[in-house]
Amino acid sequence: MRISFIGLGAMGYPMARHLSKAHEVVVWNRTAEKAARHAQEHGTRHALHLSECADAGTIITMLPTSKEVDEIVDQLLQDLKPGTLWIDATSGDPNVSRETAKRLEARGVRFVDAPVTGAVVGAENATLTIMMGGDAADVERAKEILQVCGKTLIHVGPTGAGHAIKVLTNTIMGATVWITSECLLVAKRFGIDMKTALEVTNAGSGRSNASENLLPMRLRDHQWPLVFKLLHHDKDIRIASQLAHQQHASTPMLALTQHLFSAALNELGPDADYIEVAKIVAKMNNSSWE
Ligand code: NDP
Repeated sequence: MRISFIGLGAMGYPMARHLSKAHEVVVWNRTAEKAARHAQEHGTRHALHLSECADAGTIITMLPTSKEVDEIVDQLLQDLKPGTLWIDATSGDPNVSRETAKRLEARGVRFVDAPVTGAVVGAENATLTIMMGGDAADVERAKEILQVCGKTLIHVGPTGAGHAIKVLTNTIMGATVWITSECLLVAKRFGIDMKTALEVTNAGSGRSNASENLLPMRLRDHQWPLVFKLLHHDKDIRIASQLAHQQHASTPMLALTQHLFSAALNELGPDADYIEVAKIVAKMNNSSWE
C-alpha cells in the first residue's frame, strides 16, 4: 500500500520510519531537508512537491495543530481520489476535525482522527497509544496501518472523539505536573531532600506519571531535555477548555490549568519544554530547583 506521510517532526519522523518497513511511504515536510534525510535513511520517497502526496491510498498528517492540517487539505483537496483514507495523527481540535471530515467526504475521502500519546520515546519504540475517532470501518482501516507505530489502538467514538480525549488526557497530565511541582517545592522549602520527597510520593497516594517519570530527571537530576513543546501542550489545554465551555461544563480546575499554562508559555516562550512549567512554579516562589 502507498502512504503519504506529511510532517516529519519529533513524532512524525520515527512514525514514518516504522510505516516504511511495511509500506511504500512518500514523505513531505515543510523543511525539505528533513524529508530528503528520511528518504536517505529509511528508503522512503521524498516528495519534492506536496501535490505528489495526493494520489496515495492513505494520507497521514502529523502537524502542530488543525490549522496546518486544514492548510494541507486545502492544497490537496482537488487532487484527492475517492476512497482515499486521511488519517490525522495531529493532536487537533475535534470541532475543526469534524468540518475537515465533511470537506473531505464531499470528495469521497474518509477521515479518521488518530492522535497519539507516549512521547517521542514511544514514537521511536513504536509503543504509542493511538486513540481514534471515526466510522468503525474507517477506523479498522486506520488500525491496520498504524499498528506498526503503537501498542494500544483504541476506537474512542465518532469523528473528533480521538482528538477530544487526547486534549483531555493531556490536561490531566498538565494539572498533575503543576500540583506535584508545587507540593515538591513546599517539601524542599521545608528542608526535605528532593530524592526523599520523590521516593515517598512514589510510594504513596500522590504517585503519578509526573512524579514517577517526568519530574525526577528535572527536579532531582537537573536535566531539562526538550521532549514536548510547551507550545503544543498549551494548545491542547486550550482546546480542552473550549470543549468544556461548549459542553456547558463547570470546570474551575481545568480553567485554572489553562491560565497557568498560558502564563507559563508567555514567560518561557514557544521553544520551552512542557515540564519547564515547574520552573515557573519555583519562580512564583522566588525559588529554584537547584
Ligand atoms: P514538531 O514541532 O516536532 O514538528 C511539527 C511538524 O509540523 C514539522 O514537520 C514541521 O515542519 C511541520 N509544520 C509546522 N508548521 C507547518 C506548516 N505551517 N505547514 C506545514 N508543515 C508544518 O511537533 P511534534 O512532532 O512534537 O508534534 C506533532 C503533533 O503531535 C502535535 O500536535 C503535538 O501536540 C502532538 N504530540 C507530540 C508529542 C511529543 O512528545 N512531541 C506527543 C504526543 C503528541 P518543519 O520541519 O518544517 O518545522
